[in-house]
Amino acid sequence: MKNSADPHTHAQVQPRRPIQELPDELISQIAAGEVVERPASVVRELLDNALDAGSRNIVVRLQAGGVRLIAVEDDGCGIARDELTTALKRHATSKISSLEELERVVTMGFRGEALAAIASIAEVSLLARTADASHGWLLNARFGDLQAAARTVGTTVEVRELFYATPARRKFLKSDATELAHCLEAVRRHALARPDVGFTVWHEGKLLEQWRACLQDDVDEALAQRLGDVLSTDFLADSLPVRREGSTVHVWGRVGLPDAARARADRQFAYVNGRYVRDKVISHAVRSAFEDVLHGHKQPVFVLFIDLDPARVDVNVHPTKIEVRFRDGREVHQAVRHALEAVLATPRAGNAQQPEGAFVPGANISSALGAEASFKAPITTEHLPGFWASAEEQTRSFMGQASFQPQAQPWNDRVGNEVRDLQALWRPSPPAAPAPPTQQADHWPLGRAIAQLHGVYILAENAQGLVLVDMHAAHERIVYEGLKQQLGVQANPSLPSQPLLIPATFAATPTEVACAETCADTLAQLGLDITPFSAQTLAVRAVPTALAQGDAVELARGVLAELAQHDAATVVQRAHNELLATMACHGAVRANRKLTLEEMNALLRQMENTERSDQCNHGRPTWRQISLKELDGLFLRGR
Ligand code: ADP
Ligand code: MG
Repeated sequence: MKNSADPHTHAQVQPRRPIQELPDELISQIAAGEVVERPASVVRELLDNALDAGSRNIVVRLQAGGVRLIAVEDDGCGIARDELTTALKRHATSKISSLEELERVVTMGFRGEALAAIASIAEVSLLARTADASHGWLLNARFGDLQAAARTVGTTVEVRELFYATPARRKFLKSDATELAHCLEAVRRHALARPDVGFTVWHEGKLLEQWRACLQDDVDEALAQRLGDVLSTDFLADSLPVRREGSTVHVWGRVGLPDAARARADRQFAYVNGRYVRDKVISHAVRSAFEDVLHGHKQPVFVLFIDLDPARVDVNVHPTKIEVRFRDGREVHQAVRHALEAVLATPRAGNAQQPEGAFVPGANISSALGAEASFKAPITTEHLPGFWASAEEQTRSFMGQASFQPQAQPWNDRVGNEVRDLQALWRPSPPAAPAPPTQQADHWPLGRAIAQLHGVYILAENAQGLVLVDMHAAHERIVYEGLKQQLGVQANPSLPSQPLLIPATFAATPTEVACAETCADTLAQLGLDITPFSAQTLAVRAVPTALAQGDAVELARGVLAELAQHDAATVVQRAHNELLATMACHGAVRANRKLTLEEMNALLRQMENTERSDQCNHGRPTWRQISLKELDGLFLRGR
C-alpha cells in the first residue's frame, strides 16, 4: 500500500516501530469491539452462558438501559471456586477442547472470549456456587480477589459501567430507552427459543417482563404458549404451526398468515440449532414462499427453527455468532421454502372445526387433498390461446367428481358477452347440482351461499356464522392457480407468442443487447422475440399473446433487466406467474355480475379446494369469517 507522501490521504506519517505483541488487556478490548456493540450484546452473551449452564430460570436486572448495570442471575450448574478466575481469561472455555468438538458444537458459546472481553471494558463480578459446594464464591474481576458469599446453586454475573474504560465507545450509545429496548429484544430472542426456561426482566427495580417456563411435553404447545407470552396472543391467533421433517433439515415453528404481515421486519425470528441468526438463505426462502400471497412490500412474521446436523453448519464465521454458513445452502433454502409453502397454500376455510394437525405439516398438500384438489378452475378454450386446449383436456379428467363442469357449448347466442365469460368459467351441471344444502352445509368450510351483496360480495352461512367473500378476488386466485397448474403439466412450458405487425425498436444498452443474444431461448419461452437491429438497437418482433395490448418496449426492457439480475429459471417462473396473474385478472368474474346461488356455491367449493385461495393474486384476503359471537356482540345479545 502507498503511504502518505500523497497529500490527499489523511493517514499520518508515522515512524515505523518494531513489531511487538499487544498487552492482554488491549487484545481483549479489541475483541470486545467485535463482540460488544452495546448493552444488549452483553445481555446476549450472559444469557448464552446461563443457558449453556442448564438453567431453568434466569433473571436479568438492568439499570440505565443496561449501561449502568446488567446482572444476569441463573440457577444453572455454577462455576467452581478454582475456575472462577479462569472463566475470565481469554480463550478459556469449558465447552470445546478440540477441532472435532468445534465442528459439531451444540452449545451457544465456544469461543471463550465473552467474559474476558466484557471484563476489559466494564466492572465485572462473578458470584457462583456449584452443587457440591457449601456456599458460593464472589470474584471481583478488576482486583482478582475471591471471597466466600452466600448463594444458591447457580451463577450471577454483574456488569457495571459498560465502556467505562473505553469512553470513546460509550459515546456511540443511544438513549437509555433505546438501549433498554435492544436489551429486551435480546431476551426475547432467547426466550422464544427456550420455552422450557423461565425469564424475568427488571429495570430500575421495576418488573418489566416475566415469562414462566412452559413445561408441556408437546413442543408445539410449549412454543405456542411462549409466543403468546412474548409476542402477544394476536401473533398466536394470526399464525399457523409449521413442521417439516426432512432427511437432513428439520424445519418447525410458527408462521404468520399473510394478513398479519407488517410494515417492518421486526417479527422475524430464525434459529439454527437453537441459535438466533440473521441469514440470507433463510430470509430469501421465506420471501419466496410468501411471494405469491403477500400484499405489497409487507414483511412476513415468523418464528422458525431450522435444525440440522451441527456438522452441516459452520457457526464460527462471525464473532457474535449471529451469522452462520451452511454446508449446503440449497437444502436449507428448499426445506424452509417447502415447509412454509405447505402451510401457506392450504386453504384455511373451516380451520376452526379442524384440529391443527389437519394442515398436514410436511406433506405434499396436493396429494394430501387428493386428486380432485388439483386443478379445478374450468377454463375453456374460448378464453385462452389455443395451446391451453390440450392441458384443458387433461384437466377435464380430474373433474369427474366435481359437481360443476366446464362449459363446452358457446353461450354467446343466449346471453350477452358480459355474462358469457363468467358462465363459461363455472357452470353447474344440472343433474349433479348441489346436494340438499341443509345437511351438507355444516361440512362445507365456507358454508352455503345465501345471497350476493351489491354485486361484489357473496354472503354464506357456515357452522361458525357468516362468511363474506370478495367474489372477484377469490375467483381471480382460482383462475390463476388453475393456469399455473396447467402450465406446470406441460413438458416444456412456453407462453404463446404473437408477432408484432411492425417490430418495435428501441435504443438499448450494451448489456441489454448482450442479454438479448445470450438469453434468446429463455425469451422465446416467455413468448418474446427480441433481436439486435443494429449495434445499439434492439427490435421486439413478438410478445406474449396475453400482453399483446401492452407496451412492447417497456416489457422487453423489464424482462431483460430481470434476466441480467437473476438466473433464467427464476425469471421464467416469475414471468410466467406474473403473466398468468394478469391473464387471471382478465379472466375472473367482474364485480356487478349477478350470480345464482348455485354459481355462488360453486365458487365457494372451488375456493375450498384451491391452494392459496385465502388471498387474491395481490395478497389481499378473499374472505372473512364473522362469527355468531361477533354478530351477537353487535346486537348486545346475551349480555
Ligand atoms: P464461552 O461461553 O464461549 O465458553 P465465556 O467467556 O462466555 O466463553 O465463558 C467462559 C466460561 O465460563 C464458560 O465456558 C463456562 O464454563 C463459564 N461460565 C460462564 N458463565 C457461566 C454461567 N452462567 N454458568 C456456568 N458457567 C459459566
Ligand atoms: Mg459465552
